[in-house]
Amino acid sequence: MATITEPRRATRRTFQTKLLIDGQWRESLSGRTFETYDPATEELIANVSEGDASDIDLAVKAARKAFDSGPWRKMDARDRGRLMNRLADLIEQNIDELAELETLDNGKPISESRNGDLPLVVDCFRYYAGWADKIHGQTIPVRGKYFCYTKREPIGVAGQIIPWNFPMLMVAWKWGPALAAGCTVVLKPAEQTPLTALRLGELALEAGYPAGVVNIVPGFGETAGAALVAHPGVDKIAFTGEGRTAQIIMKSAADTMKRITFELGGKSPNIVFDDADLDAAIEGAVLGLYLNQGQCCCAGSRLFVQDTVYDKFVDRLAAKVKERKLGDPFDTATEQGPQVDKAQFDKILSYIEKGKAQGARCVAGGERYGDKGFFISPTIFADVKDDMAIACDEIFGPVLSVIKFSDIEEVIQRANTTDFGLAAAVWTRDIGKAHAVADRVRAGTVWVNCYDVFDAAAPFGGFKRSGIGRELGEKALDNYTELKTVTVALD
Ligand code: ADP
Repeated sequence: MATITEPRRATRRTFQTKLLIDGQWRESLSGRTFETYDPATEELIANVSEGDASDIDLAVKAARKAFDSGPWRKMDARDRGRLMNRLADLIEQNIDELAELETLDNGKPISESRNGDLPLVVDCFRYYAGWADKIHGQTIPVRGKYFCYTKREPIGVAGQIIPWNFPMLMVAWKWGPALAAGCTVVLKPAEQTPLTALRLGELALEAGYPAGVVNIVPGFGETAGAALVAHPGVDKIAFTGEGRTAQIIMKSAADTMKRITFELGGKSPNIVFDDADLDAAIEGAVLGLYLNQGQCCCAGSRLFVQDTVYDKFVDRLAAKVKERKLGDPFDTATEQGPQVDKAQFDKILSYIEKGKAQGARCVAGGERYGDKGFFISPTIFADVKDDMAIACDEIFGPVLSVIKFSDIEEVIQRANTTDFGLAAAVWTRDIGKAHAVADRVRAGTVWVNCYDVFDAAAPFGGFKRSGIGRELGEKALDNYTELKTVTVALD
């Protein structure tokens, strides 16, 4: 445990910073550590043990042993569900502390981590706890005197690599279906935000998970992450992050024929027709883009507004966005905190410069906020053209591109002119128009007159370059199970 000399408002004064392998907390074999920073102050929070290939090897062997011969395989499905509920209870009992730790490491406003992320984490574990004893096969009427049935068995050891934008929620999305299905896991949290995953590891041990069922190895992508993907003892990789990283992972996973699921980026269209409830659409546009400092894979970053209401809409939207309260993420009134790190901060500012240089009209923000911490003023570009960099690339920051359109055929075609396909939204009071857009937009999630509505029961994932497979819901259990067909001669 590292003791923090200058704790901010976090109730805890110490943080778990070691690797969790085979039920034990241990330093990395190399003895190396890496630093994690508070993005609001740019101050060091903690030095975290840095796992690499040799630590991954130990973790995979522990997960393998727990899967192949440990008590986990013999545990009744119902007891697996009880363990998961116990973990959910422990998270709930420590909810304020976990929310503060998330805010400290990631920078997201405390109101979001406490009232958004954490309740979704608890709900996700409870939802999958309910599935643990409901994963079963079918009987199949085959030709001849045979009895044929299918079974769904856990896939084995799951390697899970997650990003920094929703550090704890991504653990829940990954552990939930994996543990319900009976897999064991090796988790590699993002190097920017390892602390809440490690705290969840402590709670998992407290809940009573047997040694080796959950292993956590913080470290960097090119070392720890790549070693996890390449390891022959891993059966499946679940990854959330950038498309470029996914391509590297896909190539490497091919060598061992690992199963893969990906949840990647987006450039999601948010379409506002002139017959919409415009007040609600403005709220939805703000939530859809600025939630989590714009660091959402499903951010509604291309806002299509019908020409008949365009000027009025842009004016009102800009006024609304200028009211957003930036600052100390521990202040409960804060709506927008800092970006997660300097690299993201610099990348976003460079896109703002590109937007200006390419002739888009900046109607809000457009610069850094303050002189300490990685804060960026919420930014809106109006009159954005489809081929501008800010309309094509995922910026992953508080930069909204507003684009004018005139009719439904045109906007559907332009909404689909992207390699991404994660999410979309449509705002209209015309139910036929809403369904037509929902039907024809090529995206894994479509919200009608709402945005960013998530539920553990509703599948989430991308068409095209936004992903492979689906997370959440019953569907995610497929990611962690193999189907076995058994045929028995009857005489
Ligand atoms: P982001 O821009 O959101 O950080 P990344 O795809 O770079 O997106 O990172 C998401 C996760 O993938 C992080 O945990 C990171 O350490 C990991 N990662 C990065 N590169 C690799 C790699 N080559 N192999 C495996 N994991 C990686």
